[in-house]
Order: sequence, then C-alpha cells, then structure tokens
Amino acid sequence: MRLVLLGPPGAGKGTQSARLQEKYGIPQLSTGDMLRAAVKAATPIGLQAKAIMAAGSLVPDEVVIGIVAERIDAPDAKRGFILDGFPRTVKQAEALAEILRGKNMSLDAVIELKVDEAALLSRIEKRASETVAGGGVVRHDDSPEVVRARLDAYRTQTAPVVAYYATKNALTSVDGMAPIATVSTAIDKVLGG
Ligand code: ADP
Repeated sequence: MRLVLLGPPGAGKGTQSARLQEKYGIPQLSTGDMLRAAVKAATPIGLQAKAIMAAGSLVPDEVVIGIVAERIDAPDAKRGFILDGFPRTVKQAEALAEILRGKNMSLDAVIELKVDEAALLSRIEKRASETVAGGGVVRHDDSPEVVRARLDAYRTQTAPVVAYYATKNALTSVDGMAPIATVSTAIDKVLGG
C-alpha cells in the first residue's frame, strides 16, 4: 500500500502515520524526520536545510525530491510506504508521480486531514508542553512565530497540492478535528479496512 497523508502542521499526520505503519507493516517516510536527522548528523543536506527549517520555510524541492527518491528505493519500502510531509509543493507532487511511473507504481490513496487553522496553534503548543512534561526536547520550529511561518508555507505552497490531487480525483478528505481514534477509523474506511 502506497499512501500520502496531507495536512497542515499539527493536523495529526505523524500520529496517524505511526499507527498506519504498525497496522500495515509499511514504513512511515517523514521528510521532516529525515531532514532533522540530516541536520543532527551535520550532513551536507543537513547544513543546507538547518536555517531554512528553523525559519519555518520549505527546503528546496530538488533536495527533498532526491531524499524521497532514494528512500523509497530502500528494501523496507518495497511493499509500500506512508509519505508524511511530502509532497509539499506541486513540483514535488509531479516529481513523485514521475518517480512512481518509472517504477510502474502508483499511489493507492491520498488522504487530506482537514483541520481548522485556529486549532492548529493551540495543538502545537499543547504538543510542546506535553513534550516538556515528558522530559523530551521541543522542536526548535514549534515556537509561535515559526509555527506561523510554517502555516503560511502550508497555505501558499502546500494547499495547491491538495487541489492538484483533487483535480485528479485522487483525494479523500477526512475530518482531522475529530478525536484521534475517530480519525483512524475514517482513514481505515478509506483504505478499505
Ligand atoms: P510539520 O508538518 O509539523 O510542519 P515536518 O516535520 O513535516 O513538520 O517538517 C518540518 C520542516 O521540514 C518543514 O517546516 C520544512 O522546513 C522541512 N520539510 C519537511 N518536509 C519537506 C518537504 N517535503 N519539502 C520542503 N521542506 C520540507
């Protein structure tokens, strides 16, 4: 099964992808996680991405497309994958289609988690305070100003990706404001299980 999860920061993509990874035994491919790992390891890509991510902007398409193309070639992704945080621009969506076409593969579903923007800031603040309470480290880009920049990037660069899949009749929208378990059930229904 090959899936794309779309939605703004704080929509619950990470939560749902982690569950789908368990349920279907396919890896969750989060470009945000991959880029954070590259920043931590100070690889050339990490060095390039660091300041961009800290500002809440998008890393250049070529960089992210290269990472994803390589990652979906790995053995654990042969049976499928869940893309979380990619594609984030129409150019990335087109590149993904091209990569999959070259492998005679296609997407089984593109699921949009629809949420009220007003709820997102408070969700992200809650995630940060829960992380602190649990002794974890809060993401640098979860400060209110950077979250605002990430939401702006979503609105201007990623919302068109939702439209891109909608015009191809490939999009299913799920209410991301519902409780986590309800969202999970709705996603399972889309996937026929
Ligand atoms: P969220 O969905 O909560 O904003 P992510 O972990 O998906 O967080 O992404 C964190 C940051 O990583 C983004 O703000 C952006 O700078 C970078 N990033 C992740 N995925 C992409 C992508 N597909 N294209 C460009 N930049 C990306």
